[in-house]
Amino acid sequence: MALAIVSAMHEELRALVPQLQSPTVERAGGRDFHRGRLAGREVVLVLSGIGKVAAAATAGLLIDRYGARSLLFTGVAGGLGEGVAVGDVVVADALLQHDLDVSPLFPRWEVPLTGRSRFATDASLRAVLRKACEEVLSQPHPALRSFGLDTVRHHEGLVISGDRFVSTAHESAALREALPDALAVEMEGASMAQVCADFGCPLSVLRTISDRADDDAHVDFSRFVSEVAAEFSRDIVLKALSHGWA
Ligand code: SAH
Repeated sequence: MALAIVSAMHEELRALVPQLQSPTVERAGGRDFHRGRLAGREVVLVLSGIGKVAAAATAGLLIDRYGARSLLFTGVAGGLGEGVAVGDVVVADALLQHDLDVSPLFPRWEVPLTGRSRFATDASLRAVLRKACEEVLSQPHPALRSFGLDTVRHHEGLVISGDRFVSTAHESAALREALPDALAVEMEGASMAQVCADFGCPLSVLRTISDRADDDAHVDFSRFVSEVAAEFSRDIVLKALSHGWA
């Protein structure tokens, strides 16, 4: 089995599941693993559930039980970086757990006994994703207009994860000050990156910005995820697979 595609929530994966050819479903660890083919490639799609523990457990199952040789997380995130707007797409080049703090025993954010706080994503998967993003985002998307959005952009850089839905301007300002190069905040990516590093499994993370992690972070969240983010995921993943990804 080559590629595993993971989302936290049903709305994030809903456009990709119906694309699966010859689908079969298997239940393990409380999750449904949808196996089949996408654009001719063998894949498994699964919902991890929200948060770092759910994502880490899912990554472990995918690698150890399903033999996944690379992982993609696709979903939504809050925009932190300047110019990272709702509707934009962020490809992570590295991930960090912003709520991990074992100081003073270890530096803030460092995963104990690894010597690292930032975990890089796979450079060649990232390059294919980047090309697919550019192609998909250059086409007009029908639902964007209903959210008052016109053109959207692709960014690449640091994505941070923690077990909090960041939904106040106060909290997002604190994260921006602590980690000025963070482009986006979410709740799963960095824990998957830690598990992938343990297993030597390549990871890529693709996030559509659903909110600015501020006091308006809850507005129309579900509708945006279903109508825009899920369709970007589908289109970008299918495009990347057609370019020989994974
Ligand atoms: N379903 C809930 C919110 C889910 S939590 C609701 O309707 O309000 C948010 C999910 O989206 C997580 O899986 C996380 O990875 C991502 N996410 C989007 N915006 C986020 C933000 N501002 N802070 C943290 N996670 C965010």
